[in-house]
Parts: sequence; structure tokens; C-alpha cells
Amino acid sequence: MGAAFFYSRRPLYFRIASPRGIEPKSKPRRQSDVTTFADKTLTCRDCGIEFTFSAGEQEFYQSKGLTNEPGRCPECRQLRREGRAITRVRTLHQVTCAVCGSLTEVPFVPTQNRPVYCADCFSQIRARN
Ligand SMILES: [Zn+2]
Ligand SMILES: [Zn+2]
Repeated sequence: MGAAFFYSRRPLYFRIASPRGIEPKSKPRRQSDVTTFADKTLTCRDCGIEFTFSAGEQEFYQSKGLTNEPGRCPECRQLRREGRAITRVRTLHQVTCAVCGSLTEVPFVPTQNRPVYCADCFSQIRARN
């Protein structure tokens, strides 16, 4: 009788212990859409100066679905919008390309501690990154 009693209780016990349709409480939730941004330093492809791609701008870019980083500094972007980019001629400085050694002209003052590249090498380096 004891065994029969135990046998009849068993299915009931299992039904309670593992109820159907109830998800486990610890459902894994990914917070992948919460991204923390940090300020980035980028080089303008027009004038060669370094500019800050701020965390706020990165957030703005992402909210617009833009995956590319801006290639130009805010000043050059503004000039392009106004259609004045072409008229903005800067004094060219002759430099030697750090990769191929050929003479090239850049529209910015080269600094001592930074290598300068010709347009070809620069685009190759850019493509690699
Ligand atoms: Zn620029
Ligand atoms: Zn070169």
C-alpha cells in the first residue's frame, strides 16, 4: 500500500515542480544596444588636421544609422556644405613621403613627430585601417 501511495503521488509532484509555459526567471537579456562612446581623434582628409569625433557626435551618427566616421573636420564639412571647399586654398608644404620617399605637397604644416605620406600611400594606409 505504501508503494502504491508513493506511485500515485509522483506524477502530481512532477507537474508542480516543472510547470509548463513558465519561463525560467533568469532569462538572458543582452544590453548590446547600450553602447558607451568615447571621444576619438580623427584626421581630416581635406586639410589634414586632427579633430575630435566626440562621444556625442558618435551617438548622433549611430542614431542616424551612419556607420562611417566623418572623414573631414567640422570646418571642412561646413565649407563643403557651403560649396566653398574648392576655393579654400592653403599654402602647400613640400614633404617627403614616409613610405615611398617621393616628394609631395600637403596643405598643412607637417609636425616633426608625425610621418607624412603622399596621397597614394595615405589612401593605402587608410584602406588598411
Ligand atoms: Zn579639415
Ligand atoms: Zn608615398
